[in-house]
Amino acid sequence: MRRIVVVSNRVMELRKASQAGGVAVAIADLFRNRPCLWFGWSGKIVEGDGATDAPDIRAVKSASGSALATLPLTAAEYRDYYLGYSNSVLWPVFHNRLDLARFEAGFYARYMGVNMRFARALAKLVKPDDIIWIHDYHLIPLGAELRRAGIENPIGFYLHIPVPPSQTFLAIPEHGELARALSAYDLIGLQTQVDVANLIQFLEDSVSGRILQDGRISAFDHRLAIESFPVGIDPSSFARAAPVKGLVQSLNSAVRIIGVDRLDYSKGLPQKFRAFGHFLEKYPEYQRNVVLSQIAPPTRESVEAYTDIRQQLEALSGKINGMFGELDWVPIHYIHRSAPRDRLRDIYRASRIGFFTPLRDGMNLVSKEYVASQDPADPGVPILSRFAGAAEQLVDALIVNPYNIEEMADAIRTALVMEKEERIARYTRLMAVIRSYDSATWAASFLATLEAAAKERSRVAAPLTPSIRASMAKLARTAHAPVGLKLGGGRGKSERRLRAGNNE
Ligand code: UDP
Repeated sequence: MRRIVVVSNRVMELRKASQAGGVAVAIADLFRNRPCLWFGWSGKIVEGDGATDAPDIRAVKSASGSALATLPLTAAEYRDYYLGYSNSVLWPVFHNRLDLARFEAGFYARYMGVNMRFARALAKLVKPDDIIWIHDYHLIPLGAELRRAGIENPIGFYLHIPVPPSQTFLAIPEHGELARALSAYDLIGLQTQVDVANLIQFLEDSVSGRILQDGRISAFDHRLAIESFPVGIDPSSFARAAPVKGLVQSLNSAVRIIGVDRLDYSKGLPQKFRAFGHFLEKYPEYQRNVVLSQIAPPTRESVEAYTDIRQQLEALSGKINGMFGELDWVPIHYIHRSAPRDRLRDIYRASRIGFFTPLRDGMNLVSKEYVASQDPADPGVPILSRFAGAAEQLVDALIVNPYNIEEMADAIRTALVMEKEERIARYTRLMAVIRSYDSATWAASFLATLEAAAKERSRVAAPLTPSIRASMAKLARTAHAPVGLKLGGGRGKSERRLRAGNNE
């Protein structure tokens, strides 16, 4: 069986990874099934220029032939590559928050610098038969850098966060360079069909990429496949949910609504709290009978944009609790700490409503976990933002617009009065989707598609005029990519969308 070289920003012990967020859990699962090398940042920060190209390599005890290979970052790299370009440019822009993006000189150079250093180190570890799978927005240029280092193996890229509309993507000053880097992959995997359509549009607009007869995209001198592979969960690990002692009992008979979101501005937490406050005002008969428990672990606190959201939430929960609370009833339980996943599973099961209303989210795994934790004989109801990737699959949730406070308040009421028969019918359909596209299927289908795409790889995309060939050759010798270089006529929008929609 071919070894998988998995690359992600952060590498961690497999034991810890299986308890961490989405990307790490998916990678830890891969190790159970096949030999893997997991390459990336160790989480350590060294002073000065102490970061080298020589990774620390450790064998993984339980999996034969598998290993972790890690490199530290320097303090300047951590600041400009991680906090800077990754989390103050790419994260906000990809989540439609151009207003929060900080386009600072120096961020991009260091982002490229880390990607180049990682590529040099990784190129020495890659064996001829390996399949390389790169994860997430921190490492967009890594594939192109590996190609530059002479690596010819299949290289796929999976983006866990959403792709913004093309006009938003184009606002990133280095959008041409990013388009060029993306074009170097054999396969790009995205969470949803909307993301696929957005990325194709962006490649058309930025570098005149075009759709070929076989559905692949041609940009620069490459052909690449772009498809959606929605990330799944392992539903069996949530089926063991049990009634929670203590926490549930302390609420007496109040019905619980649960929310679980990192304290990120993309998660729509202020809107969620306002909607709950409005629900209590509009439907006063539920006062004293319903509580919202919101688990909101801290995240990226050294990025400036995250301080505001914390203050905003503390003020809002205080206001709503002060306005409606009684001595024996606090409407919002706001917990600014993380909870272990098995604890979450039990809290999900004890909650009549799962309230997941991000303004934008790549997938939103917690909504899937909530459904998988329910009692099949008396399931709760998920309320889900239409702007979460999960909404493309979980169509039997109560789908809401997270900007519409009135609609969210009404959805809470609808969920509370929903008959058991309808709850069971919705749960059954939701579980069928969650089971049929679980985490193992996600990884296997991405890897199979990558192997097929790499076999088809062709270096020549379209007949080029001598002048375009000359300018491309010139550009290939520089670190900067062209913006608006025409490779040929694009197809009509309707055909493109049709093809993007047929990608499954
Ligand atoms: N999670 C957790 N403890 C917490 C909060 C979240 O274990 O206190 C896990 C949660 O179970 C889920 C993941 O972190 O598997 C969050 O993934 P999601 O896609 O919902 O959001 P992200 O944090 O990746 O934006």
